[in-house]
Amino acid sequence: MTRRIEVIIPSNHALHRPFDQHPERPERIDMILRGLSRRGFETIIKRPTNRPKEVLYTAHDPEYVALIERLSRSRRYIDSDTYVTEHSFQVAIEAVSGSIDAAENIASGSRLEITLPRPPGHHAGRSGSALGAPTQGFCLFNNAALAALRLINMGFEPVAIVDIDIHHGNGTQEIFWEDPRVIHIDLHDSNIYPGTGWYIDIGSGEAMGTKINIPLIAGSRDPEYIYSWLELVEPAIGFFKPRALIISAGFDAHEGEMMGYVKLSSDLYGWLGSRIRYLLEKTPSISGVLVVLEGGYGPGLYEGFPEFINGLLGGDVRNLEAMANRARREHIDMVGSIKRLINKYYKIY
Ligand SMILES: [Zn+2]
Repeated sequence: MTRRIEVIIPSNHALHRPFDQHPERPERIDMILRGLSRRGFETIIKRPTNRPKEVLYTAHDPEYVALIERLSRSRRYIDSDTYVTEHSFQVAIEAVSGSIDAAENIASGSRLEITLPRPPGHHAGRSGSALGAPTQGFCLFNNAALAALRLINMGFEPVAIVDIDIHHGNGTQEIFWEDPRVIHIDLHDSNIYPGTGWYIDIGSGEAMGTKINIPLIAGSRDPEYIYSWLELVEPAIGFFKPRALIISAGFDAHEGEMMGYVKLSSDLYGWLGSRIRYLLEKTPSISGVLVVLEGGYGPGLYEGFPEFINGLLGGDVRNLEAMANRARREHIDMVGSIKRLINKYYKIY
């Protein structure tokens, strides 16, 4: 049986194209579309609304926006791993616009929105690279953060952002560090770029305890991920009762990808999708789920993404809960430390 899904894809994203062997390429979107088709999905593509650059100012400094506009007059690297072309500024605004459209659709009653922005966004802080990171990690503007801020502006708060990309969402964390209206939960490989997201980082001021970092140790696989999800993520969502759930959806922790030392199976992504669906169904406060693409450069997109969507739409997935029993002791101990730390501010665990 063919199942239909609607996804938002910027019409001109292919104009943001590297001039060398860079992994953040237009073909990433083709991999997703081919993977969805192979998995039996019919994909309906929607295009973002045109929006002015001023929409960026809720998350980014106008000086930074002007800098990217200026740098995007020619093809160049703006740091050692982030490129722009003469089209990138407009393409990045269109990417953001897709995320804002998705946020507005959730506010109007949509239960699920999927947007595939390029370039990705979660490393982009207010003025570029965030929290001391050496580069912007392929990102120009923070698509997920701008979606969250649009939802908040429409009265939907708090919003939860759960980041499953293998890299820490340092830009998102920086933007919301002192903002209790955004619950930011981030699972990431502790050994790789950007080197941020320690478990002791829980926000500051009024936002203390609304940021939960889950740094996975090298060699973590499905058991550690499942354990973290069941022990930390789901109880926090149940406690904070967000009005909307944004998934910063990177697929570069897939075992076929080359970005780090956390390796997740395709089945795990299916299971994650099903758990997010379960959260939506059992948490009455959540109006809708907004999936925003972050990283993923090969099999994560072609194999992991379609499994994730299958789980999200209620398709059959493998029941993996029992695997949590095989999580390594070192990881279980760290999860215990995170619980004790967060419990000083909110009695969640
Ligand atoms: Zn990533």
